[in-house]
Amino acid sequence: MNMRHLLLVALLVSCSFASVPQQAPREGRLRLFNTHTLERLDVVYSRDGVYDPQALEKLDHFLRDWRTDRVKHHDPRLFDLLDELASRVDRPGTELQVICGYRTPESNRRLRTRGSGVAGNSLHMQAKAIDIRVPGVRTSRLRDTALALRGGGVGYYPGSDFIHVDLGRVRRW
Ligand SMILES: [Zn+2]
Repeated sequence: MNMRHLLLVALLVSCSFASVPQQAPREGRLRLFNTHTLERLDVVYSRDGVYDPQALEKLDHFLRDWRTDRVKHHDPRLFDLLDELASRVDRPGTELQVICGYRTPESNRRLRTRGSGVAGNSLHMQAKAIDIRVPGVRTSRLRDTALALRGGGVGYYPGSDFIHVDLGRVRRW
């Protein structure tokens, strides 16, 4: 093998290595800001579809009922929905503002008596719902993006500038 052949072989080898895709694990990641507790969380909660139990615990604590400090385990598909929503609004890695996550039945009742448009059977009590806004993204656009995902219910609250998403039936209000 002469020098030219060697060079050619070296080139081919390096090219074939370069073309091997570096499969980074698909990460489920959320950056959150809680508007009531003013806490922030930036967490990778899944890799290649495998949930990280410690990260889920952090999310559960972050989304606790801040009125009573009660924590409930959230259905992690809610986090996938939020992750997908964040990437679809063209702001991957954006910070979602959380207005409400888990709500105990007592908190839900109290809010209902104040007439804040709270449902008696709210999925917040099952830790399968969340109210959010995204700074810099119009709430109507966030609603339309959430509706297109068809992951569950979507509520639109333009007066308070947030949307509700949940893992219930696909529906809207
Ligand atoms: Zn809600």
